[in-house]
Amino acid sequence: MKKLSLKTRMALAVSALFVIFVAVLIHFIMSYLEREFKRAISDQQFTLASSLAKSLDDEISLIQSALIASAARLPHQALTDPGQARRFLDSKPSLLSMFDNGIFLISKEGRPIAESPYLPNRKGEDISFREFYKKAIASKEPYISKPYSSAHASGARAIIITAPVFDRTGNVLAILGGSFDLTGNNFLAHLGRINIGKTGYVFLVSNDRTIIMHPDQEDIIKSNAVPSGLNKLLDKALTGIAASDETIASNGVPVLASYKRLQSTDWFLAIHYPLDEAYAPFHKVRRYVTLGILAGTAVVLLMVWVVMRRFMQPLTAIARHMEEFPNKPSEQRLLEIAPGDEIGTLASAFNKMIVEMDEQEERHQKLQAQLLQVQKMESVGRLAGGVAHDFNNMLTAIIGFGGLLQMDMDEDSRSRGYLDQMVSAAEKAANLSQGLLAFSRKQMRSSKPADLSELIIKMKKILSRVISEDIEFKAVLKGENLIAMADSGQIEQVLLNLVTNARDAMPRGGQLIIETGLAEMDDEYVKAHGYGEPGKYALISVTDTGTGMDEETKQKIFEPFFTTKEVGKGTGLGLSIVYGIVKQHGGYINVYSEKESGTTFRIYLPLIQSEACTGESREVPVLKGGTETILVIEDDVQVRQFSRTALESFGYRVIEAVDGEDALRRFEEHKDHVQLLLLDVIMPKKNGMEVYTEIKKTRPDIQVIFSSGYTGDVLTGKGIIEEGLSFISKPVSPHELLSKVREILDGKVNHKKGGGL
Ligand code: ADP
Ligand code: MG
Repeated sequence: MKKLSLKTRMALAVSALFVIFVAVLIHFIMSYLEREFKRAISDQQFTLASSLAKSLDDEISLIQSALIASAARLPHQALTDPGQARRFLDSKPSLLSMFDNGIFLISKEGRPIAESPYLPNRKGEDISFREFYKKAIASKEPYISKPYSSAHASGARAIIITAPVFDRTGNVLAILGGSFDLTGNNFLAHLGRINIGKTGYVFLVSNDRTIIMHPDQEDIIKSNAVPSGLNKLLDKALTGIAASDETIASNGVPVLASYKRLQSTDWFLAIHYPLDEAYAPFHKVRRYVTLGILAGTAVVLLMVWVVMRRFMQPLTAIARHMEEFPNKPSEQRLLEIAPGDEIGTLASAFNKMIVEMDEQEERHQKLQAQLLQVQKMESVGRLAGGVAHDFNNMLTAIIGFGGLLQMDMDEDSRSRGYLDQMVSAAEKAANLSQGLLAFSRKQMRSSKPADLSELIIKMKKILSRVISEDIEFKAVLKGENLIAMADSGQIEQVLLNLVTNARDAMPRGGQLIIETGLAEMDDEYVKAHGYGEPGKYALISVTDTGTGMDEETKQKIFEPFFTTKEVGKGTGLGLSIVYGIVKQHGGYINVYSEKESGTTFRIYLPLIQSEACTGESREVPVLKGGTETILVIEDDVQVRQFSRTALESFGYRVIEAVDGEDALRRFEEHKDHVQLLLLDVIMPKKNGMEVYTEIKKTRPDIQVIFSSGYTGDVLTGKGIIEEGLSFISKPVSPHELLSKVREILDGKVNHKKGGGL
């Protein structure tokens, strides 16, 4: 089953609460009203019963007074003269009008004397047995008879009221009386015709449970018509307690009953009002109220639902939004709900989450792209590194032998000039392979304290060759020493790359300014820029007045292979190499650029406080040879031969080995003489470090110089050689080789410094 929506459930809940509350309230109000209503109607009915009883009493006493008055005026001769008696009776129209069954005079012996209207055949009839006669004679007072069936009008049910006729001494001489037909046309009979509402009725019942008057004429003078126990309230009333309450009538109908005893006789006036009708108004009201509650509930339900829908609309929108979220285009993924209430807070929290998620996704993708790029660069780098390594060996031979030749030759001979050219070309080639290694970042970093301003002065010539004539080149250099630990070759490459880019950005000419200076990054700067270590830096900035870049381009320029230049013109590697080099130096690079206004790159290199001393300005020491035995272990024939030639020509004894295992064999043969190992790092069978470790076991005092085209990073990073050991980077010039060998043999070099790792 589908769950009801929140708003429907809320509407139902509110309506249910409303119904419960209203129902309870109405229940109490209704029961109170019911009680009050019933009491009021019961009281009213009793009042009515009382007033009817009173008027009945009045009527009866009026009749009795009239009878007494007539009895008093009766001439005594009439007692013996029926004719006169009849005339007397006939002359009493007021009495006649009261008694619809007529009036009569009875002798004290119980025989009718006369009656009016006249009835034949009544003379001599003895009625002394009649209850009313006996009571009337005995009581000497006006008397109301019990109802009875009339003797002369067959079937007629009647009541007789009498008054005695006295002589002067108070003896009863006769009885004057009148008779009512209980089904006739008199005040008693009228009672039976009174309607209370539509179904209510009035009746008279006597103390002995005989019905005297009743709308149902069948019941009249029925004795014991309501046996005790049938109508509890009547039973109670007959004991003399006036009563008005609900009860069950003898016919089983629930009625509101009021019983009132008459003063003049032992009759009770009763009103029975069937509850059905008596309470009908109330029941009607109750029905209306119930209907009202139901209608009210429906209205409340509807209203709450509508209000809820209004209130829930933003929530519904959020729910729908989330439902459709996976298919939404990215620009529609944020919720458009103003914060303010809880729903607004929810919406903005959601939006924040989405933005965060998007950012994370972006970061993730960027990282992934970077990773991919790094992997690519890594493999390209490995390839380049591999090529450079072999290339270096060849260059070592060329430069080496060239160097040896130079030493043998006269400074001023013509061939010497050619040779110098060849060696310098080879050195350029070596530079090229250095560049390749810089790109692969596996180049030996020969960081030395370098004066950056000086470096730029030296480069000025090369740089101005890079830029075209319509570009004005200016170098603003700080006079004092600006010394950073730097690999001059690499920094040159950085400048070359930046200047090349500047040139490309200014196809129609412009200005190129290279500046150097001091910069200090304090905590503030670091915080503001989000990078860097506080400290002093040497700053090189390269500014052009070229095309500049937009923000998007600026974000990507350091990525390898990112270029905006046409195919064949740009490789997209320039700035990534710059970046790599700067990082390697523990520096920072940033760019400031605006479209059409030019670009400034700033490079920060950690400043060193030590005295300036540039590699170039060092004095060239006089080369010294020796007689020590050196084991040259090198797999490349040319390099090996160069080393041998160079060393032997300076007096050393050289033993050659072609790989790691060979090295161990040759060492075994000459272990007592060998004083120095010239060890290539990467070799087949056993690498340099393994060979060194092995040999050190028998000759802990053995000296060693490692050589390789690979950088220190790789070698130490991979644990190929230990830090602190002497190292020369290929290609090696004879000068370099010889001075290094002498240094090591003389124990001059602290391994942890200078050319070491
Ligand atoms: P390439 O020069 O081969 O395109 P780089 O990595 O050197 O690759 O530069 C990447 C991109 O950075 C360039 O294509 C260019 O869009 C932008 N760029 C670099 N330097 C500048 C500059 N000085 N002025 C404007 N754009 C530059
Ligand atoms: Mg470039």
